[in-house]
Amino acid sequence: AGFETLALDPRLLKALAALGFEQPTPVQRQVLPAAAGGRDMMVSAATGSGKTAAYMLPTLHRLLTTTAPATGTRALILSPTRELARQVLKHTKQLAAGTGLRAEAITGGADFTYQRAVFRKDPDIIIATPGRLLEHVQRNNADFNELAVLVVDEADRMLDMGFADDVLAVVKQCSKHRQTLLFSATLSGKQVAAMAAQVLNDPHKISL
Ligand code: AMP
Repeated sequence: AGFETLALDPRLLKALAALGFEQPTPVQRQVLPAAAGGRDMMVSAATGSGKTAAYMLPTLHRLLTTTAPATGTRALILSPTRELARQVLKHTKQLAAGTGLRAEAITGGADFTYQRAVFRKDPDIIIATPGRLLEHVQRNNADFNELAVLVVDEADRMLDMGFADDVLAVVKQCSKHRQTLLFSATLSGKQVAAMAAQVLNDPHKISL
């Protein structure tokens, strides 16, 4: 069965068709219906498995089918590296084409003042590396009070890079009503389990 059986907003089905994606990958097939229910999830998925669309499609669907708050970011993707953040932004723009939803990346190495202006424009979706994002959070540039979805992407790599404290400090500023999706190449590590215990609420676990 194709994507049309997965109850996605027609604008997303149209974007998938334009990309030439005909069949969901195994991780997408498992994550999409489970995430649609709103539960937190922890998912083991390798790069190249289609994991980005596996979290981005249910996220975009949620934003398209719920009322936007007056201000604030609605979805936050935490990424371990600038390179991954750039790739995720590119893929998000492809999937969100024709939805009107706006996505921006906030990573180290880019101009801080410029990024402050990006936050003021209230992008629906922010894709960020933890260190730079935390600097903005500490200066009150970011507003995650109305956050609907938080994604921790490549959690194992994030933790290996020493970002645990930065991630937890950012998560503290996120709405408690959010849905949280944690993706990791492996779910078996102690550090990943500790992070999951602090950011997820009764997660549905998927190992592929
Ligand atoms: P990722 O694992 O998210 O890095 O995705 C790996 C590659 O697979 C990316 O180039 C995606 O554009 C592509 N991709 C993701 N989902 C699908 C799909 N359902 N059909 C075909 N290609 C896909």
